[in-house]
Amino acid sequence: MGTINVDVVTPDGPVYEGSADMVVAKSNRGELGILPGHIPMVAPLAISAVRLKNGTNTEYLAVSGGFLEVRPDKVTILAQAAERPENIDVDRANKAKQRAEALLNSTNNSEKVDKARAELALNRAINRINVKR
Ligand code: ATP
Repeated sequence: MGTINVDVVTPDGPVYEGSADMVVAKSNRGELGILPGHIPMVAPLAISAVRLKNGTNTEYLAVSGGFLEVRPDKVTILAQAAERPENIDVDRANKAKQRAEALLNSTNNSEKVDKARAELALNRAINRINVKR
């Protein structure tokens, strides 16, 4: 059935370049399993783990939102940020998680915008912690 090329690019540069039997990614509408020959499409990416399957091996990448572009022979992920597990600093993610939780738990309700941002920061931190595991 062949493989599909995979590029993961961020504003800081490429994070992954390779191929996979199957790419599993989470769009805002749900999970997508992409095999070679998939119809072309573009979808927004959730803060989530992207799974790159090769045989029985699965690699995980933490992506912090962005876009997924699918062509029959290639998947391109344009992410705001993306990390391979080996590059994830868990202490940093735990600190980001604690900061976000503190903001969300604070009784100051006048900062609605900050709370929405804190929610996203919390999701990014939890996603990184999960991918590192
Ligand atoms: P922090 O508050 O710790 O900066 P953040 O979620 O606000 O976390 P981002 O704005 O998503 O950080 O990312 C900024 C840059 O830092 C990106 O290049 C991202 O890959 C990197 N980065 C963020 N958190 C981590 C982490 N825990 N380990 C490794 N790289 C990280």
